[in-house]
Amino acid sequence: MEITSPTRGTKRKYSGYQIKRALSGGNDSEIAKQSNTIQAQGTELKAWRSGLESEEDVIFHQPPPNQMASGARPRHYNDNYYQGLYSTESEFAILGQKYPEFGAVLKDGTQLDFTDPAAVMQLTKTLLKEDFGLQIDLPPDRLCPPVPNRHNYLLWLKDLLDSSSSSYREQYEPERRVTGLDIGTGASLIYPLLGCVQRPWHFIATDVDFKSLSYARLNARLNNLESRIRIVGRDASASLIPLDELNVSTIDFVMVNPPFYASDAELLKLAAQKSRPPYSACTGAPVEMVCEGGEIGFVQRMINESLVLRERVQWYTAMLGKQSSLKVLIDTLRRHHINNYAVKAFIQGNKTRRWAIGWSFVTRRPSLSASRGHDYFATKRLLPPITEIIIGGPFPKVNREAIPRHERALCDAMESLDLVSWFWDKQRLRGVGFADGNVWSRAYRRRRAAGDFPVKQLAASSVLEVATCAFGFSVSLRVGKDPGDLYGSVAVVLRWLQGDDHSLFESFVGMIRGRLETSGAGSTRE
Ligand code: SAH
Repeated sequence: MEITSPTRGTKRKYSGYQIKRALSGGNDSEIAKQSNTIQAQGTELKAWRSGLESEEDVIFHQPPPNQMASGARPRHYNDNYYQGLYSTESEFAILGQKYPEFGAVLKDGTQLDFTDPAAVMQLTKTLLKEDFGLQIDLPPDRLCPPVPNRHNYLLWLKDLLDSSSSSYREQYEPERRVTGLDIGTGASLIYPLLGCVQRPWHFIATDVDFKSLSYARLNARLNNLESRIRIVGRDASASLIPLDELNVSTIDFVMVNPPFYASDAELLKLAAQKSRPPYSACTGAPVEMVCEGGEIGFVQRMINESLVLRERVQWYTAMLGKQSSLKVLIDTLRRHHINNYAVKAFIQGNKTRRWAIGWSFVTRRPSLSASRGHDYFATKRLLPPITEIIIGGPFPKVNREAIPRHERALCDAMESLDLVSWFWDKQRLRGVGFADGNVWSRAYRRRRAAGDFPVKQLAASSVLEVATCAFGFSVSLRVGKDPGDLYGSVAVVLRWLQGDDHSLFESFVGMIRGRLETSGAGSTRE
């Protein structure tokens, strides 16, 4: 496949390599487990790479060249580009030709030895340069992050934040100022670097390890990101989320890839099972791998701090190396009556390797894709409540021409309710509404008819006014674009955007379904 790159004016040819499989793993112990050499494969990269370097795809301002002179040039493409990264395979050989330093660690110019720490480190550096325009320096005795796995965490965070923002827009808002805290950023500074390239975000990055901190500072400088990444040294016994000490009132998220193991013994046992040296560039130094209570202990410390900080952070999140930790932590959240949480599986290749958990004291609900990570979860019991339902999609006989009729029907239905606010966006075919409670129940309507409540005026939504409403939702008309079977057909998508009480959403869905059934809607799908 030949792909034209508009700004470079060159044609690049990609075929395939097993990068996403080979690079899977969080604290990287998995890499060594992978076969010694990975054979080049013939899968071609899809066209998502094409056209992404054109002017209109640059999503935010790049520093002028003189500011970049000493460092790398982080590249800012649109979300589709980042979404597509590592979803297909490309080829080591091509990368090796483009980057001689990578070519030098390949065997026969095509194969990578994943037991060789130097080769693995070079792969990480090369991918960061090729796919993000980032440059990093790493010591040989600290963790070398596999890029696809770390990138997955960022993709999830974007989904989580975009789908639960205070504007209720359910989409990326370039003007939103977002600050995140990366606990234990490591020598690579990987998360802040990946985050700053993709979004105009700011980071606070902490660590307890002197050597990692000095490399992290170097890596911020190498990429001219010192003004957006604040690097802070911490004591191991000090708080993990030190907002007061840093004089910060609120932030948008906390992220962490915690030390996974509770003791050296646990780590050594695992290393022995995988027949590899315990502390290599792939696994990291003891401070990176081991902490009291392992990952469960670390995240429970975060939960305890979050019980005090509460809404001062919108999303508390953590990556986990063991699926079994999820259950323990979700039980802890539930014990504390935290029911707005999210789980995600990070998958590379055919295998699930890592998991993530997020929780919030803010009642804005994230998308289904962000909160119920993957169908893959064997135990549905662990998942948070459903936040999205598709009704009657597609209506069998409805086509594009019928959209105005559907818009009218939906708006009529909403306007007949005692909502605090309702706003229909004609362009997006999407309405957002808020209610103080179940204002569609028969009981409510009966009391209303008897004059028990004063008549409310529908107001345009003021953020302050709706933020405390018991129930917030969006209703969208989704028009099928697939020329196959859904072309021109219309479905109704209901989203639970706000509230603590899932039964309100369920009952709201029932009400809408009932109204649509009269217009011939089909079955309900999650
Ligand atoms: N974020 C990096 C490194 C993860 S390893 C990556 O994903 O590759 C875990 C990191 O947490 C190490 O750098 C370790 O030094 C740091 N760490 C351990 N305990 C910590 C604490 N109490 N506060 C902040 N960082 C800590």
